Amino acid sequence: MGEFELIRQYFAAASCAQAGEGVALGIGDDCALLELPAGEQLAVSTDTLVAEVHFPESADPFLLAQRGLGVSVSDLAAMGATPIGFTLALTLPRAEPTWLQAFACGLDRMAQACAVRLIGGDTSRGPLSLTLTVFGRVPCGRALTRSGARVGDLLCVGGELGDGAGALPLVLGQRQAPAAIAEPLLARYWSPQPQLALGQALRGKATAALDISDGLLADCGHIAAASGVALLIEQARLPLSTALLALLGTSGACDCALSGGDDYLLAFTLPPEHLADLQAQGWPIHVIGRAEAGAGVQLLDQRGQRITPQARGYQHFGSDGD
Ligand code: ADP
Ligand code: MG
Repeated sequence: MGEFELIRQYFAAASCAQAGEGVALGIGDDCALLELPAGEQLAVSTDTLVAEVHFPESADPFLLAQRGLGVSVSDLAAMGATPIGFTLALTLPRAEPTWLQAFACGLDRMAQACAVRLIGGDTSRGPLSLTLTVFGRVPCGRALTRSGARVGDLLCVGGELGDGAGALPLVLGQRQAPAAIAEPLLARYWSPQPQLALGQALRGKATAALDISDGLLADCGHIAAASGVALLIEQARLPLSTALLALLGTSGACDCALSGGDDYLLAFTLPPEHLADLQAQGWPIHVIGRAEAGAGVQLLDQRGQRITPQARGYQHFGSDGD
């Protein structure tokens, strides 16, 4: 199968590649053409996933595509943007029809959940890797950035933390667990659900936001630095799932929540006056701390003592990731 046949059969023909709102021209020309309503800005983000760095080469292709797209669209959620389209640059060691078919299905599944369309890409032979670039739209000046947190804001997250990190040993086959525990954790890892609706609901309310990819401590450090505030996290307020607690106990679950990464939930700062309304509307908002004067991230541990945590997220070229 040649490159063009592969593109036609598995990508151009996918339901997520069909024309729709915001996409004036999709796959097949030299560029895609996007339409942006007047008064809106284009939000763009790109992510690369490399076999044996970000996922095992043997990963299920359906799950890989689903997770890859979910992780990428999560960046749009973090900005309060509405998805329009995405491109897929794929390098593959070989064109294997069953692999490609399953990959395209996984992509379709997540694309449908996020209402985002495949608008182009690139396909070449090489070690397995995927680069996804997502495009979204957001009303001018209303995107949620990392830099607006103010002293007195509440620090909040959009759901239970640590499940993705807790699932990792199960994903890598290093650990087993009963289905009642493993299934919800694996679902959180393989099928991250970008918090698009929450991000949009937070526009004009949250002062800073991001999606947690590197771990709560590391990501809160990004908000603290960009905003020029300190963030205090109260360990006792971390929302933890029953599955994670059953797998790891309180202390292990807290470690995953604080340092594990792979949550793809929103973390944001919110002036206290907005909390009651948002919670009354049913948004899953958990207050875990607050912004204070100062710098960096501090932790109030279970005994009520303030500590300055050492843990940092994974860094590819840092001392952990060389
Ligand atoms: P060009 O040589 O002009 O860069 P290509 O031959 O690489 O174009 O691709 C032909 C068309 O197929 C383009 O519209 C491109 O965006 C699209 N395409 C290529 N690979 C993929 C892919 N993996 N997924 C989706 N669209 C793709
Ligand atoms: Mg090309």
